[in-house]
Amino acid sequence: MSLKVERIVTGPFQENSYIAWQDGLPSCLVIDPGDDPGLIIEVILGNDLSPIAVVNTHAHLDHIGGVSGLKEKYGIPFYLHPNEKPILDGYERDCAFFGITPKITPTVDHWLSAGELKVSDFLIQCVETPGHTPGGTCLVINEHVFTGDTIFAGSVGRTDLPGGNWDTLCDSLVKAMENISHDCILHPGHGPDTTLEKEIKQNPFLIPLLKRVNSF
Ligand SMILES: [Zn+2]
Ligand SMILES: [Zn+2]
Repeated sequence: MSLKVERIVTGPFQENSYIAWQDGLPSCLVIDPGDDPGLIIEVILGNDLSPIAVVNTHAHLDHIGGVSGLKEKYGIPFYLHPNEKPILDGYERDCAFFGITPKITPTVDHWLSAGELKVSDFLIQCVETPGHTPGGTCLVINEHVFTGDTIFAGSVGRTDLPGGNWDTLCDSLVKAMENISHDCILHPGHGPDTTLEKEIKQNPFLIPLLKRVNSF
């Protein structure tokens, strides 16, 4: 079954919130609802979808601002990697730092771990890619990958925020190139879609790491 993906750009950080569903079926996942829950709900309604879960790549404030609103509206569970807990706990403090009015800090219903995660009809391969944040996770569904702020078109995530680590991110990028099919479509947390194949050829942060990738 083919996966349909719709991107909704939300909030002051222009974060990509995603809705993903199997073509022809009503259930959808919401990935990284960063802000503007009303806007996300409009797109859900416009596609006649029924959300079953929120799954996040990480817990930065620009990726979680819509979670509590969606949980409240639909009564759905929120999935996050446990190593993101310190980031989640710092949500209000981080909002104050950026001068942003915080929403309600969402409660986590299920903690993610590496490997397969089944949410109803969706099979999600969770690839732990820490470095931008301690529990950053790439979510692979069919031939689509939600990379959060680990890989962008032409760039990679910053590592100068609390919990970030450049060497750890480099290890994660190598791991991603070894474990994720290169023709997958990447849906980053900011900016346009890309593919791993394209990034391996063009991304100046990935090219120097190719010598470390086993399949090369
Ligand atoms: Zn981030
Ligand atoms: Zn972000």
